[in-house]
Amino acid sequence: MTDTQPTDDALREQYAAAIRPTMLIGLQGAELDGRGGTQRINEWADWIATAVAAVRDKEVEALRDALGAVARVRDLHQAWDADPGSCAHCHDSYGTPLPYPCPTALALDPQEQLSARLTEYASKDIANGEPS
Ligand SMILES: [Zn+2]
Repeated sequence: MTDTQPTDDALREQYAAAIRPTMLIGLQGAELDGRGGTQRINEWADWIATAVAAVRDKEVEALRDALGAVARVRDLHQAWDADPGSCAHCHDSYGTPLPYPCPTALALDPQEQLSARLTEYASKDIANGEPS
């Protein structure tokens, strides 16, 4: 978990902060007995669900943004078709491409996913009659 990811306690507080102010105002002195109370409790349950869903939607949006950034970086660090065995993005200080998987690709993907991609890439080269 990085510093930018909220902890479980921070997430709980975000949910509580979304609910607490309205609950404190709305339930002060509320009659919760009988049919009217049941209706009021149901209305509050619906309101809480809506408030929690709004916080969750923000979390999902943040996760989608983060995953999009990772995908954009992953797209840069692919095996380079023009120079098999090299990263399409990384090079050393002399401009020589770095071997693929580069350190960034290894940091982004578990080794087994990279192995599968390399196998797929190599089989494509073999199918094209090129050395893998
Ligand atoms: Zn790279």
